[in-house]
Amino acid sequence: MTNNIAEALKSAYNAITEFQTKQQLTQQSRLIAVSKTKPAAAVEQAFHAGQRAFGENYVQELVSKATELQQLTGIEWHFIGPIQSNKTKDIALYADWVHSIDRLKIAERLSAQRPMNKAPLQVLLQVNISGEESKSGIEPDELLQLADAVAKLPQLRLKGLMAIPQPGKGAEAFEQMQKLSLQLQQQHPDAKELSMGMSDDWQQALRFGSTMIRLGTAIFGARGIPSND
Ligand SMILES: *Cc1c(COP(=O)(O)O)cnc(C)c1O
Repeated sequence: MTNNIAEALKSAYNAITEFQTKQQLTQQSRLIAVSKTKPAAAVEQAFHAGQRAFGENYVQELVSKATELQQLTGIEWHFIGPIQSNKTKDIALYADWVHSIDRLKIAERLSAQRPMNKAPLQVLLQVNISGEESKSGIEPDELLQLADAVAKLPQLRLKGLMAIPQPGKGAEAFEQMQKLSLQLQQQHPDAKELSMGMSDDWQQALRFGSTMIRLGTAIFGARGIPSND
């Protein structure tokens, strides 16, 4: 295998640092390498190049890669895809973070199914910021109520928000997310994370306070057909 992944990571880290310096951004931001549809070997390569946090969209892929790579100490799995309630058990077992919680029932199941011998699951609430009919995410005006309920669940830690804006509506959506995040932090001061920005729009997201950018294509190259699950 070539060293393309290591090189792509290095240029992403450099581009991020350069942009942060140029824009005088003060928040700490990190890169989540989105490895969906890519083999465990690709994740392992990225790990050996220094990357620790990986994002997965499909439960079956999370389970198989996390199992195969369990010897990699310090690897961190972020579940970022839509969640069906019959899949929560595997997510509760294998993920360290979940970015895509948009209803209480899912949060309750994850908390109940998170093994007691593991650290609480760190969770973000997904907001339907562009008001898209078909998109997952809680409506902005229902967010604070959901946050209060999720914050009470014993095996979850409410850490912040996530959004996937409609293509082309990035700036407006990111700005609204930044406002929502500040509102949320008034009630939940530890919920500071803001997961937004992908390969095409991460600069814009960083400008509006993103603390986690989720890069797939920029790190692992173009994807083929997604797996079913
Ligand atoms: C696939 C995916 C990404 C990564 O997208 P790229 O455009 O390849 O960087 C980020 N976030 C979510 C939720 C995704 O599903």
